[in-house]
Amino acid sequence: MNEVINPKKPLIYYYAIVLLVLMLFNFLAMPWIAQRQIREVDYNTFNEMVQEGQVGQVQIQEQENRILFTDKEETTVYKTPMVPDYTLTDRLLAAGVSTTGEEIQQTDPFLSFLLTWVLPIVIFIALGQYLSRRMMKSMGGPNAMMFGKSNAKVYVKSSEGIKFSDVAGEDEAKDNLKEIVEYLHDPKKYQEIGASMPKGILLVGPPGTGKTMLAKAVAGEANVPFFSMSGSEFVEMFVGMGASKVRDLFKQAKEKAPCIVFIDEIDAIGKKRDGQLGGNDEREQTLNQLLTEMDGFEGNTGVIILAATNRPEALDPALTRPGRFDRRVPVELPDLQGREDILKVHAKKIKVAEDVDWNKIARMAAGASGAELANIVNEAALRAVRDGRRYATEADLEESIEVVIAGYQKKNAILTDEEKKVVAYHEVGHALVAAKQTNSAPVQKITIVPRTSGALGYTMQVDEGNHYLMSQAELENKIATLTGGRAAEELVFHSASTGASNDIEQATKLARAMITRYGMSQDFDMVALETVQNQYLGGDASLACSAETAAEIDRQVVGLVKKQHEKASRILEENREKLDELAEYLYEKETITGEEFMDILNRK
Ligand code: ADP
Repeated sequence: MNEVINPKKPLIYYYAIVLLVLMLFNFLAMPWIAQRQIREVDYNTFNEMVQEGQVGQVQIQEQENRILFTDKEETTVYKTPMVPDYTLTDRLLAAGVSTTGEEIQQTDPFLSFLLTWVLPIVIFIALGQYLSRRMMKSMGGPNAMMFGKSNAKVYVKSSEGIKFSDVAGEDEAKDNLKEIVEYLHDPKKYQEIGASMPKGILLVGPPGTGKTMLAKAVAGEANVPFFSMSGSEFVEMFVGMGASKVRDLFKQAKEKAPCIVFIDEIDAIGKKRDGQLGGNDEREQTLNQLLTEMDGFEGNTGVIILAATNRPEALDPALTRPGRFDRRVPVELPDLQGREDILKVHAKKIKVAEDVDWNKIARMAAGASGAELANIVNEAALRAVRDGRRYATEADLEESIEVVIAGYQKKNAILTDEEKKVVAYHEVGHALVAAKQTNSAPVQKITIVPRTSGALGYTMQVDEGNHYLMSQAELENKIATLTGGRAAEELVFHSASTGASNDIEQATKLARAMITRYGMSQDFDMVALETVQNQYLGGDASLACSAETAAEIDRQVVGLVKKQHEKASRILEENREKLDELAEYLYEKETITGEEFMDILNRK
């Protein structure tokens, strides 16, 4: 609330300045303006004017030793010095000039009215306007003073408005939304049967998978007004303002129906109401209002609400019940085909070589979201420009995937010979263990060029196709591969280095998940010992078991990793010669491809 109190001080300050200006104006400028109205003439001219009957009024100002007089129409005021003239009064009387002693207005009455009354009022109003605008700004923009007006942006369709064809992959989501578009085009078809459209549709999925894009595409295809607002924009400084914004938004939407209202990041207002002390009153009121509004309109008014979130489990159950957001459209990370399509959609925006193997690039970018893929394509174009080429090549795309995964190459990081050797053995250790286990994915590339992310080298593995399920053996092999780096170091140098910390973290995570979530241990059978939170945002897990069980889990995790570590050591020992040969080769070349690696491995 500080922002509201603060302007008080400056307020006095500003009024003082205005008063000062007014006073200066009255003292200095007013007499000056008045003076300018008075014309000075000599006594003879005055006499002549009296005789000719051109004088209207006369005032003798003895103290100032002057005579003021006006012309017949009383439009101009004249001034003349007083000289001893005893017949003046008679002459004035004879000429019929009024000498009532009334004061002659030195300025135009209209002008003086303007200056003394109107001008100060105008100045004060202008000041008031200026101050209130300043105050609004300091209170966080015009919203704060607009008391509950929604500032939803109406999406203006441009000539290149987003269409479904711009959104690659996500076919299920598109099918689902196409129905909405069809309904907005021809609501009668649905009404005749008696079907009513869902009022709200919830798009859920990890960040960057194209939820916002899909919502815009619906508006682009349906050709209806599109109100777009982010959940956080509802939440305001004062309790009740968010609610009134919701009311206003729905009022506008109903006037413009048929139309689409899109609320991004709805979890900002739709979080579960937990009723704890110190809860967020404003957010809860806003949510209540949203619930009421959604109940308030009939299914077929033509207002369709789309909302996006990546934390569906945090939403209030009242929001997701039938009649409100009753349809949930998952927008998942793209699969291999989806990734390829997305890459191709974005590649249309840049100049790229014709012979790019998009399938290979898509396979390398396993697990990337649509936004990341768009970023990879853009990085490739940037790289091409940097190298002075006219178009991006496959190598650019591969490098930009590495940039997105591991950061830029560190140009000036100098490794000592010994360090470089350790890194080479470490990386070959991973690759060799992976290649020797039949179920492991083949290696795409190994490099020991340091990256800005801190990685001194890495082994890029490529999945051949889509993986929806992983067997226990595959998971165990993966852990063995992760431990392969350290195993190689131990085998060759008989010591451990810090380079394996990331491997250790990943191996532990996998092993823990196998035991607590996938039911892959003998002792615990199919009991869930951990629950995953925020599945779309990293998926942290929290333990749900007794302390003794937790200790037992730890023991089993250690046992599992240890077993795989031993397996990796065994594989490397059995292939010691190849390990040396490959590490030597990598040490020389710094980067080797999957084919080179397999060639050396299969060479007799
Ligand atoms: P979200 O709202 O799910 O976080 P956005 O819709 O804002 O993600 O997507 C961010 C960017 O990622 C888009 O502007 C687009 O360039 C790209 N993108 C994401 N998914 C796709 C897709 N399926 N097809 C094409 N581009 C996509």
